[in-house]
Amino acid sequence: MSTQPVHVVGGGLAGSEASWQLAEAGVPVILHEMRPVRGTDAHKTQGLAELVCSNSFRSDDAETNAVGLLHAEMRLANSLIMSCGDANQVPAGGALAVDRDGFSDAVTAKLEAHPLVTIVREEVEGLPPAEWDKTIIATGPLTAPSLAAAIAEATGADALAFFDAIAPIVHFDSIDLDTAWFQSRYDKVGPGGTGKDYINCPMDKDQYLAFVEALIDGGKTEFKEWEGTPYFDGCLPIEIMAERGVETLRHGPMKPMGLTNAHNPEVKAYAVVQLRQDNALGTLYNMVGFQTKLKYAEQTRIFKMIPGLENAEFARLGGLHRNTYLNSPTLLDGSLQLKSRPGLRFAGQITGCEGYVESAAIGLLAGRFAAAERLGRPLPLPPVTTAFGALLNHITGGHIVSDEEPGKRSFQPMNVNFGLFPQIEAPKSEGKRLRGKEKTNARRRAITARALVDAREWLGIAPAREAAE
Ligand SMILES: Cc1cc2nc3c(=O)[nH]c(=O)nc-3n(C[C@H](O)[C@H](O)[C@H](O)COP(=O)(O)OP(=O)(O)OC[C@H]3O[C@@H](n4cnc5c(N)ncnc54)[C@H](O)[C@@H]3O)c2cc1C
Repeated sequence: MSTQPVHVVGGGLAGSEASWQLAEAGVPVILHEMRPVRGTDAHKTQGLAELVCSNSFRSDDAETNAVGLLHAEMRLANSLIMSCGDANQVPAGGALAVDRDGFSDAVTAKLEAHPLVTIVREEVEGLPPAEWDKTIIATGPLTAPSLAAAIAEATGADALAFFDAIAPIVHFDSIDLDTAWFQSRYDKVGPGGTGKDYINCPMDKDQYLAFVEALIDGGKTEFKEWEGTPYFDGCLPIEIMAERGVETLRHGPMKPMGLTNAHNPEVKAYAVVQLRQDNALGTLYNMVGFQTKLKYAEQTRIFKMIPGLENAEFARLGGLHRNTYLNSPTLLDGSLQLKSRPGLRFAGQITGCEGYVESAAIGLLAGRFAAAERLGRPLPLPPVTTAFGALLNHITGGHIVSDEEPGKRSFQPMNVNFGLFPQIEAPKSEGKRLRGKEKTNARRRAITARALVDAREWLGIAPAREAAE
């Protein structure tokens, strides 16, 4: 009996990888890509897996960099995006950068030549019809409007976001708790809290005034013409708030009320920056109300003026972009299926990951889950100790949904980073505890070594056979 096809909507980074994984598993694929019938505001060609901006897949260091680790896991998993990236590499130091046309042409050629892949150039205007049975939607941040409207209708009006309004996220272990302290405003315990749920960074008047001035003077990124100016209530960039008046931030996200500096209880802070736990592991904290259009280098410089964040390491910086993504932690199950419609999966940036490589990795997972289901061979989820599992867990379960602000979505797209992995003790060197950068790198090496062992096991690749080859 022949295997029924799986439909994939969108031939970008995620849809191309998902199609490849399905076909390589022996499952026929019908890939629907709307270009060139209909374009997007960012794509310029009709090639599959077109890179719309930079030509970089970022660091290729699998030992001390999380995206480098993701590259390595994808290579182990027979990734089309990685093999075409490797074949079209251009010099870029420690990064993997590619010739964008050569890369996209290679992906297109591989999929066109695969006997189990049929590519249909058409816009899918609504949710897939029931007879498609199993479908993966991978239409990306610029999903065509009619499909986006259908998804919004099916998932609930506020379940699909059309803009990222992102506040920076900081690695917990880079926050100086000799200056900052844990406390919820007015020590409120709330439904799921402890009264000490926020990390507070105090400022005196001079520090506050210098900070406001730096925000106003800091370089900003411009919106693309087609993005419009998507400011909406409750989500103003902090630099816009700063421009509205010197006291505005002190009456908004930086208000000092209800907080007592645990290190200096006699002195009332003039302003306070609050950070809230962002992931279940407690390794990441987001800067509350700090969505911003400041340039990345400016964010790093200016936010390090905040007492307690002088040595902050940022898991992601803030931004405001046109995007389309689901509130995945509430809508999708662990294998990326819409809970309300099993058989319909999402993949790529629309699920709330960010970046070419992460989008392709989520496409790879969606393709493998759908193939396993079609072939009747259940596939366990990748362990959270792997980059695959850590990223998937961020999307489908690891992110904390705010109890304090019910109804307000806090889930934001994110690149893969070490804060998403279960932590591990840094190994000692000759019995001595390591410090600083050495300690960070030793811990990262331990995380990546564990990840690659677990990824091989999940993929069914015997380490002994690998070594022998
Ligand atoms: C302007 C811009 C700049 C970016 N710059 C970078 C960067 O420099 N580096 C980085 O890592 N990431 C960048 N990103 C993020 C990047 O888009 C994603 O990381 C990645 O391309 C997402 O992969 P995807 O497969 O989810 O979506 P895409 O690669 O966008 O693929 C989606 C595909 O679906 C098709 N499609 C949409 N709707 C339909 C429909 N209804 N029917 C059929 N086909 C449809 C589209 O034509 C497209 O081919 C940028 C995003 C944007 C919008």
